[in-house]
Amino acid sequence: MRKRITVRRVCSICLILSAATLPAAEGWWQTEPVRFFQTNLPENHSTLDAEKHVAAVADFGANVLLLNMGGIAAQYPTEVELHYRSRWLAEGHDFFGDALRAAHERGMRVIGRFDLSKTQKPVFAAHPEWFFRRVNGEPAVFNGLYSACINGGYYWEHAPKILTEALTRYPVDGLFFNMFGNPAVDYAGVPMGPCHCDACAQKFRARTGRALPADDRDPEYRAFMSESAKAVAANLAELIHRLRPGAAFLTYIDEYTDVIIHESNTSVTRPLPLWPYSASDNVNRSLNSGRDKVVFNLCMSFVDYPWRFIHVSPNEVRLRLWQNLAHGGAPALVIFGGIGQEDTTSIEAARPIFAWHRAHEDLYVGQQSAARILLLYGSGGAEYRGFFRILTEVHIPFAVSTDLDWLTDGRRDAYDLVIAPDGMPEELNAWVEQGGRLLVAGTIAPAAAADDVVAVHPATRAAWRVHDRGVFPSIATTELMILDSPYAELKPGGGSPLTLIPQAMTGPPELVWLDKVETETPGLWSADVGRGRVTWIPWNPGGSYYRYSSPGHSGVVVDLVDRILPRGRQLKTNAHPLVEITVMHQPERGRTLVHLVNVSGHSGTGYFSPLATGPIAIDLAGEFTRARVVRADAPLSLRIASGRTRFELPSLREYEVVVLE
Ligand SMILES: [Zn+2]
Repeated sequence: MRKRITVRRVCSICLILSAATLPAAEGWWQTEPVRFFQTNLPENHSTLDAEKHVAAVADFGANVLLLNMGGIAAQYPTEVELHYRSRWLAEGHDFFGDALRAAHERGMRVIGRFDLSKTQKPVFAAHPEWFFRRVNGEPAVFNGLYSACINGGYYWEHAPKILTEALTRYPVDGLFFNMFGNPAVDYAGVPMGPCHCDACAQKFRARTGRALPADDRDPEYRAFMSESAKAVAANLAELIHRLRPGAAFLTYIDEYTDVIIHESNTSVTRPLPLWPYSASDNVNRSLNSGRDKVVFNLCMSFVDYPWRFIHVSPNEVRLRLWQNLAHGGAPALVIFGGIGQEDTTSIEAARPIFAWHRAHEDLYVGQQSAARILLLYGSGGAEYRGFFRILTEVHIPFAVSTDLDWLTDGRRDAYDLVIAPDGMPEELNAWVEQGGRLLVAGTIAPAAAADDVVAVHPATRAAWRVHDRGVFPSIATTELMILDSPYAELKPGGGSPLTLIPQAMTGPPELVWLDKVETETPGLWSADVGRGRVTWIPWNPGGSYYRYSSPGHSGVVVDLVDRILPRGRQLKTNAHPLVEITVMHQPERGRTLVHLVNVSGHSGTGYFSPLATGPIAIDLAGEFTRARVVRADAPLSLRIASGRTRFELPSLREYEVVVLE
C-alpha cells in the first residue's frame, strides 16, 4: 500500500518533522498477516516466567504480542535515571528482554508498551515543571502516581532518553503508547480540568494570545491539546524510525503513527443503546480516512475499569473480531494479566477466530474497501450512527471517512455518492459542480439551497406527511413520519413529496390533533448543481432512526439513495437486516471478498449466539469468473449477466467470506 504525506491540520514543528517520520518502506504491519494479542500486565507480573508466557500466547494463536515494557514501571533493567524498574523485577532479571527473545525465536512480533502519562513522586520532586498542574496549582495524583503534561519536559526531554535506551537495547517490532496526551478524566472518571503548568501557559498564549481557560471544554484549549499531542507524536515517530528502522509507532491518534489503535470497549458510563457496530465503525473509519493506514481495533475483554479481570459476553468478543476482519482489520484481543486467567471467557471465545485467521491469513492482508458510497463521519453522533445502521441493514456497502483527503489524493472519482449525515462541508461544492452526487441531512443548508431557507427551528415534536409513494416506494403503509429533530423551514410550495405538519395538540385524547394543520413546507430539497446533484434532507433522519428505528426514516434515506445512484446498487441481496455484508478488494491479489457477519445475536444489552440463516442470494456489480465460499470450502456456481454476478450462499452461522476472482 502507498504511504502519503498529509500536512493538513498540523503545527509548524510537525511540518518540519513530517518527512522524517515516514518509514522508508512498507512495514511488517502492512505486508504480514497480524493476529494481535495484548497481555496488559500489572507491575507485579515481572515474576512471570517469560518463556511460559510467550508459549501460552503462541499456543493461543497470536503472532503479534503487545507487552509491557516501560514508562510507569520498566519490565527490564533500565539504567536511565528517574525511570523506575518494576519493584518485582529481581536483580539480574529482564522480563521484557527474555520475553522478546522467546517470542522472536518463535517468529512472533513484539510491540513494547509504554505509558508516559504518569510516574513516581521523586520525578515530580526533581522536576515539578514537567508535570500536569490543576487550575488550583496542585499536581494531579492518582494512586500515588503523578501525571506528566504532554507539553512538559517529561515527554519532550526525558522520554527520548528512556526510549533511546529501549530502542537501542531491544530489537522491538514496535512501540505502543498508552494514554497519549493529557486525558480529560482520570481512571476514576473524575475530570482533570485544563493543565495550568508553565509550559502550557506559554505555548497556549503564543498560539492564541490568551491565558489558559479554567474549563477544558474551551474549543481553543481542545485544539491546543490535540496539536500538542501530535507534536510529541512527530518527535517520537522520528526517534523510533531513526533508531529502529522497521519498527512501528502505535498509539490512539491518526497523525504520525504507523498503526492506528482503536478500542471496542464497554464503558458502563456510555449512554444506551449499545453500539453493536463498534468494531465495524472503528476499522472502516480508520482504513478509509486520510492516508492508507493499518488499524488494530482492540477487543477489550473486560467490562470496565472496576472489573479488569471480569470479561464481557463471549458473543460480543466474537462479533467484534469478525467485524474487524470483515472491514479490513486484524483479530486483536486484550486481556488483563497473564494468560492464566480466573475468567477465560474472552480467550476461549476468541481462540477459534484466531485459528480461522491463521488458516486463511492471506485473505486478510492488504484489504481495501470496494464500496462505491462514502459516509462522512461528521460529528460522529446519533445522526452518523443512524445512517451507519440504515446502510448496513439494507446492505448498501459504504466506506467511512473523517476527512476529505479523498478529494485530493486520487480517490476523487472513487464514490458514486457521498452522504453527509449532519451538514455539508464547503469543500464539497467544487466536487459536486464537477459531477459529484451528494445526499446531505441536517439543518445547515448546502450553499445552493441557502436562498430557500426561511428559518431554522429547534427540536420539535411534529410530523411529516408523505405524499408521493412513487418517490418513497419503501414506505408502503404510512403517510406520516416522526419529526423530532431541529429542522430548516424552507419556502413553501413546489409539490414536495414530504410536507410539514407542525406540532399540534396531543392530549387529552379528546383534543388530539383538533388543531392540526397541513402546510406546504417541504421536508426535502434537491437540485442539479453544475454537473452534479445535491439532495438535502433539512432535518435529521439519521438521529431519529438511531433513536426509534422507524421504518419511515430508513425508507426515506434508502429510497433517496436508490434515486441518486447512477447505476443502481452495488449489491442486492435477500439477507436479513442483521446480516452485515462488506465488499473488499485485495488489489495485489486480484481478488474481491464478500464478508458476511451475522449480527442477529445482539438484542438490547445482550449478545447471544447468532441465529443461523440462509440461503442468501447475492447480486454484485462486476463480472467474476469463479467464486469460493471459504468456510464450506466449496466453489459457488455463478450467473453472470449485464455486468453483474449472482450467486447463492447456502447458509450463514457466525461469519463467512466469499472469494471472487
Ligand atoms: Zn501542561
